[in-house]
Amino acid sequence: MVAETMTVVRTHGPRDYRVEEIPVPTPGPGEVLIEVDACGICASDMKCWLGGELFWGSDGKSGYCEPPAVAGHEFAGHVVALGEGAAERHGVQLGDRVIAEQIIPCGECRFCQNGQYWMCQVHPIFGFKSFLIGGMAKYSLYPAKSIVHKVPESLSAGEAAYIEPAACAWHAVERGEITKGDTVVIAGVGNIGLCMLQIAKLFEPGQLIALDAKDYRLDIASQMGADLSINVTGEDVVQRVKDVTDGYGCDVFIEATGNPAAVPLGLQMIRKLGTFVEFSVFNEPATVNWTIIGDTKELNIHGSHLGPYCYPKTIAAIADGRLDVKPLIAEAYPLTSFHEAMESSLSGGVLKNILVPV
Ligand SMILES: [Zn+2]
Ligand SMILES: [Zn+2]
Repeated sequence: MVAETMTVVRTHGPRDYRVEEIPVPTPGPGEVLIEVDACGICASDMKCWLGGELFWGSDGKSGYCEPPAVAGHEFAGHVVALGEGAAERHGVQLGDRVIAEQIIPCGECRFCQNGQYWMCQVHPIFGFKSFLIGGMAKYSLYPAKSIVHKVPESLSAGEAAYIEPAACAWHAVERGEITKGDTVVIAGVGNIGLCMLQIAKLFEPGQLIALDAKDYRLDIASQMGADLSINVTGEDVVQRVKDVTDGYGCDVFIEATGNPAAVPLGLQMIRKLGTFVEFSVFNEPATVNWTIIGDTKELNIHGSHLGPYCYPKTIAAIADGRLDVKPLIAEAYPLTSFHEAMESSLSGGVLKNILVPV
């Protein structure tokens, strides 16, 4: 039996997220109602909470977040109700465990029409829009245009909540176009970086190097297969990378630090004709010597956004153990303890906190 109301966390403004009771929606045509297993707290949730310009706008321009929005985009759950035609549309039945991709593509813009749905011009993402119900809720409603995948029961609630960030990591690694034997640098080994590290390993690099400013993360990176884990605050990291690559620099640099200072560092340590993948969302612009990209090194600069076409392979890799996210999950908090969970996440001392519906 689905309840009539449910507890959710809704964004009202920067540092103004409220635990509230709202009606449980009834699925319309093509829509799927799921009972949420758990929902991860993402760096983007933290940036939104802190008042990031991307989310709240500036100088009279509105941001991406349209409050009040039920927060959360890292979640999976079980189907509890299906709108008309939804079972056929999504290939799911009552009781199935499922995840919807974080973006609900419009299906009509030039990008959607070209199969580039992750760059949809309309671009609604769970957790930031008032017309969507994100994962920090007892129930979430997948709109008819959602892209839904099945999730095996063998995954824990935390592992299932990790599918979304891990799929984003997978796409970023693919953008690196790693060839066997490459020296690959993963800059920033937080949640996503540690997933990138494990995924990059599947592409058989020659050397996998992890960079971070926090030792506890570098220790995990070493346990997860980094050949070299370097604390950027302690030494000349550019020189270190050059030393282990016969002076050339790394072949692939994947930027996942969230710190604009990592960009000039990456441009210095990458070899000529290398591939630089930009994944982070920065709260301030990065300042670089742009000439390095062209005249000096002729680099490939590849952006990376979301996890298009990566959900099925990510789910399979978590299920068969090639991608181990268990050590990355810190603590499970009840939804009503959202503020405590957010403070813990912001402390930087933990990797992924998850919220469990009440
Ligand atoms: Zn996220
Ligand atoms: Zn579109």
